Amino acid sequence: MTYKLGILKGDDIGLEVVPVAVQVMKEALAKFPEVKVEWVDLPIGYTSYLDTGETFPDATFNKLKELTGWILGPIGHMAYPKNDPKAINPHPIIRRVFDMYSNIRPSRSYPNVKSVHKDVDLVVVRENNEGFQPDRNMFKGTGEFMPNPDLAMSVRVISRRNSMAVAETAFQLAMERKKKVTAIHKNTVFKLGCGLFVECCRQVAERYPEVEFDELIVDSAAAALVMKPQKYDVLVTTNMFGDILSDLTSGLVGGLGMAPGLCVGGEYSMAQATHGSAPDIAGKQIANPYAMVMSGKMLLEWLGVKHKDPALLQASKLIEESVERVFAKGIMTRDLGGNASTNEMGEAICREINEQFSGVQS
Ligand code: NAD
Repeated sequence: MTYKLGILKGDDIGLEVVPVAVQVMKEALAKFPEVKVEWVDLPIGYTSYLDTGETFPDATFNKLKELTGWILGPIGHMAYPKNDPKAINPHPIIRRVFDMYSNIRPSRSYPNVKSVHKDVDLVVVRENNEGFQPDRNMFKGTGEFMPNPDLAMSVRVISRRNSMAVAETAFQLAMERKKKVTAIHKNTVFKLGCGLFVECCRQVAERYPEVEFDELIVDSAAAALVMKPQKYDVLVTTNMFGDILSDLTSGLVGGLGMAPGLCVGGEYSMAQATHGSAPDIAGKQIANPYAMVMSGKMLLEWLGVKHKDPALLQASKLIEESVERVFAKGIMTRDLGGNASTNEMGEAICREINEQFSGVQS
């Protein structure tokens, strides 16, 4: 088959880190000529708004349906023109319409990279389309409303379907890792919402007897993760708890530049780093491309498992090992205490890909 992979750069630092991620993915894939990839550039975000008057043109939306997967850069929607219905935030729409119910966000420490903790290797798997997020948790209308100017209400949505689905993603992932899943919730207070979520996690756990399963209240989880993150493997939780905790876990291993992510559902998958568009550092070539590069690596890995394609799995492993070697040599961006530029990081990873691959061949 030919994999059709979309490139959607997004905004601000997305214009710098997405090209680096794609360069690295192409370099790794070039080592496996049996893998056929067609790359498709698609306009999105503010640059698209300037060109077409829309941040999410219909042509982009329709093309996504034909793709195997895609890489989406961060969206700086807070800076979009207010009150223009064509200046919308596209990523919640994409996650919902393409039914990407799970958001996989790993946090990993590296020996050479300054971090609050060492030996961290965990993944937050977050439900992606419900919870408190009003921009995606309703079929029509919004999950937030104001009955009067002095009263705001937010509706939280938890469904059995998405809770089962995200738990399934977490357990499948745990099977490939340290075989441990921790469900994070607050069923002491949200007896129905978190109650249903945990009930679903327990049900899925029964089908994975090899995986150790436990449960943790979200407030205790916040403290436990800061104090002893090494105890955890896969953490599965609802949308907003996962959003907050995955930023927290990125802080344990070097910050948001170290926070990759993948949105997945039954059919579609999208590489999307955890961080935002970082307008404060955009255009300066100082953004850390690690998060986006590793998001691209996760996409290749996910597609490799899904399509039972060992070459894609090898390409993703090649990226992972090359990044490790780059850090081991002390090459890193300013947020990690180094002085490499965004592009220099990409070039260093590509060099390692070539060196490692020639080593494998000889
Ligand atoms: P942010 O994640 O963009 O930035 C927070 C801090 O982390 C900033 O100091 C930034 O410089 C730093 N940072 C982020 N990514 C980095 C990287 N790769 N390398 C080095 N430093 C990095 O969060 P914000 O400032 O709250 O949001 C900026 C914009 O991004 C807003 O419009 C927000 O709505 C949007 N946003 C988008 C997404 C997304 O598209 N998935 C996620 C979060 C925020």
